[in-house]
Amino acid sequence: MSEDELDTEEGRSPYTLQQDDDETRHAFWADTVADQVEARVADQQSGSNSDSNSDPDEDAPEIVIKGGISPSGVPHLGNVNEILRGYFVAEVLRERGHEVRQVFTADDRDPLRKLPRTLCDLDGDLVDLGDVDAGALGRNLGHPYTDIPDPFGCCDSYGDHFSTIIQDSADAVDVPIEMVSTTELYADGTFDDVTRHALANRDRARDVLSEYQDKVDEEYIPFNPICEECGKITETVTGVTLEPEEGDLPTVDYRCTDMDAGDRTIDGCGHEGTATIREGKMPWRFEWPGQWGVLDVDFEPFGKDHAEGSWPSGDDVARNVLDIEPPVPMVYEWFTLDGEPFSSSEGNVILVSDVLELLEPEVLRYFFAKDPSRARDFSIERLDQLVDEFDRFEATYFGEVEEATEDEQDFADRVYPLVVEDPREERIRLPYTFAAVLGMTDDPDLREEIARREGHIPDDAPDWAVEQALARVERARNWARRTENEFDYELKRTEIPDHEFDAETEDALAELADFIEAGHDPEEIQGEIYETAKRNDVDIGEFFGAGYRLFFDEEQGPKLGPFLAKVDQEFVVARLRRER
Ligand SMILES: [Zn+2]
Ligand SMILES: [Zn+2]
Repeated sequence: MSEDELDTEEGRSPYTLQQDDDETRHAFWADTVADQVEARVADQQSGSNSDSNSDPDEDAPEIVIKGGISPSGVPHLGNVNEILRGYFVAEVLRERGHEVRQVFTADDRDPLRKLPRTLCDLDGDLVDLGDVDAGALGRNLGHPYTDIPDPFGCCDSYGDHFSTIIQDSADAVDVPIEMVSTTELYADGTFDDVTRHALANRDRARDVLSEYQDKVDEEYIPFNPICEECGKITETVTGVTLEPEEGDLPTVDYRCTDMDAGDRTIDGCGHEGTATIREGKMPWRFEWPGQWGVLDVDFEPFGKDHAEGSWPSGDDVARNVLDIEPPVPMVYEWFTLDGEPFSSSEGNVILVSDVLELLEPEVLRYFFAKDPSRARDFSIERLDQLVDEFDRFEATYFGEVEEATEDEQDFADRVYPLVVEDPREERIRLPYTFAAVLGMTDDPDLREEIARREGHIPDDAPDWAVEQALARVERARNWARRTENEFDYELKRTEIPDHEFDAETEDALAELADFIEAGHDPEEIQGEIYETAKRNDVDIGEFFGAGYRLFFDEEQGPKLGPFLAKVDQEFVVARLRRER
């Protein structure tokens, strides 16, 4: 288990949902959730299916799992919770014979309330607001995301741009999601009935909502039209016409007033007009349960923030205003990035595309297979720990880890086939920090030669396995560059850099070579560097300098002891003796 488990309470398994009671305990949390989803589906079937002769298997309904996001800005690794948590439950249900759809709503009729400080292009590169046409964006405050031009010019709209990145993220971790645009649900009439229902029951809507939200006055109407004059979402509805002429849609009358957007006000234009129920949106607390209804959602995971706010009201609104049975909920804990909350404005953010330059997709899938109810840190600095943990998980599955605990073995047996598409025992994983050492040299043949010499690649390894193993070297190298850690140097392997040492330094290097050859741990080697220099009367700074010269042809370098301990010993010893 890695040290990134923030919760170290004793006796708690890191793999299973903690609210499991012992009798129904599963090795994998997604099985526990799948039980609940099956129970819900069975309940609904027995409720709706009064014909006792019908075969329940034959008309077994498709199960719908939903996630969702407001495409307001940079979709980062934290948002992948929405995709992968749902995915694991979907896969477990598919294994059990159910048809499952995984839908993902882009809440793209939401208005842009403030300008994001950072955006990102379709390649996942972060871009400052100042580098796009911020003025154009500013003029679009208050407009639905799908009505705002794409600041990068590549997609149909601002909303579409960020939805595209979410879709790309799901593709990158190999999860088939079906993106649903909330704007489309209004525009194509899917939302007609539920919107009409909310308007018809606006007194109940007001009563229920007032328990969760201040500022719900007598005039509150659960619909926000788009002003036909200025294009902004407005909140002031002055009249409702539920039954206009035969065949026409219900409408609302409105006045375009100012919108309160946190620390600022977005000005309304004062226009008075009429909008149909397709020309606007329900407020979020109605729209979310409305989505459950029109998409027949059976299960939805959501972050802790929703658990305290939107979920209780959504559950209440669904049952008591919209007459919809809410889905099975699941709350997941947020995780931090290098110990701090994700924040694109603070620059503490990483996209899926960036992460996949550092590790394999299956490692990322593994991260999200761990218990969602526990807080974790995703540490880029210590990414080696996560990758090591994955390698052990994989090896456990293949029965190669004798000291694996029962929990670990059960978890690996159950989950590994859901994390890795095509389990192959002959796979080769170079330890991540060793891969980083190999990444200090550019020559691909040399990388392979060293990996073979060090025993990481067996002689009879199939080509695909060798190729896959060496692909990790590039990733570990990207990691070194990104973190500027001790592997972010170019190791001069092929020939000894020019150097000139005095006799004392040469003696000290020879003694250090003997010490390393005898086999010692990183801190012992670091200590011996000091001791050897002292014994031979060599200035310690100069002695480190000699090491950096020999290995990097530089004046400076990483902490030498731990570094030398990670490089293949034979090479280190020979180089210290200046033999090659
Ligand atoms: Zn775009
Ligand atoms: Zn207006």
